[in-house]
Amino acid sequence: MLLKDRIAVVTGAGSGIGRAGALMMGKEGAVVIIADRDAVSGEAVVAAIRAAGGRAEAVATDVSDDAQIDHLISTTLDKHGRIDILHNHAGIQVGGALTEVDSEGMDASWRINVRAHFLAAKLAMPSMIEQGGGVIVNTASNSGVFYDREMIAYATSKHAVVAMTRQMAVDYAKYNVRVNALCPGWVDTPFNDPFIAQMGGRAAIENYVRTKIPMKRWASAEEIAEGILFLVSDRSSFMTGQALVIDGGESIA
Ligand code: NAD
Repeated sequence: MLLKDRIAVVTGAGSGIGRAGALMMGKEGAVVIIADRDAVSGEAVVAAIRAAGGRAEAVATDVSDDAQIDHLISTTLDKHGRIDILHNHAGIQVGGALTEVDSEGMDASWRINVRAHFLAAKLAMPSMIEQGGGVIVNTASNSGVFYDREMIAYATSKHAVVAMTRQMAVDYAKYNVRVNALCPGWVDTPFNDPFIAQMGGRAAIENYVRTKIPMKRWASAEEIAEGILFLVSDRSSFMTGQALVIDGGESIA
């Protein structure tokens, strides 16, 4: 097992990529703390990990609320004494170009995509230093490394996640804390439902994906979870400050 007895906290783990990563961590022996704002889906992921023979618990957490992030990190430390893995995954996509996005959309993107990652990492870092190391994965997006459609709030906040990841990595490498960014492209999860609706439905998005992505398809959440497992395990033991792009070639086309 790659993660035997490691304590892993995953935000936004109730669905999609976060869920797939959490299931994989559970399979590899970690104790997974499922931190989703949706308590029902959080508990369902806990049940799925336990049914597969793993260990998990849910701490319902809305990462847009500082007090709830504080509660997540402090209860985990109180109960388990350490956090080995922090996967900051919850995020939002506010669509639109400069003249279409209102200030509230920009603020919300910053608050959930960037500030929440910052705060959870800030609160977990002292214990990682004290215990001699740890791993942080910040979910960005391939929208954190390139620009395409009209997504100013999303692209700006996701680029900030990559920048913040690099800054954390360089500052805390001496404490054996590795920090990397996860940058998926199109992944078939409910996250894209609003964009699919905006595009005019499933057939339209399938056509978009076929023409825009060099590999001509979506990723599954499980394909992205393979990257998560790589980043949170010792398989990436000499890697820090990097943006792992898993996008079927979209950002280099
Ligand atoms: P998803 O919609 O399948 O799941 C998101 C989960 O996060 C849900 O369970 C939801 O309840 C939870 N959540 C939402 N807001 C929250 C909050 N404020 N606090 C706590 N939990 C919250 O989504 P997904 O596909 O796993 O994507 C989520 C993350 O992955 C985002 O950061 C997104 O930017 C990134 N991402 C997704 C894609 C994609 O195509 N799916 C591509 C690139 C990056």
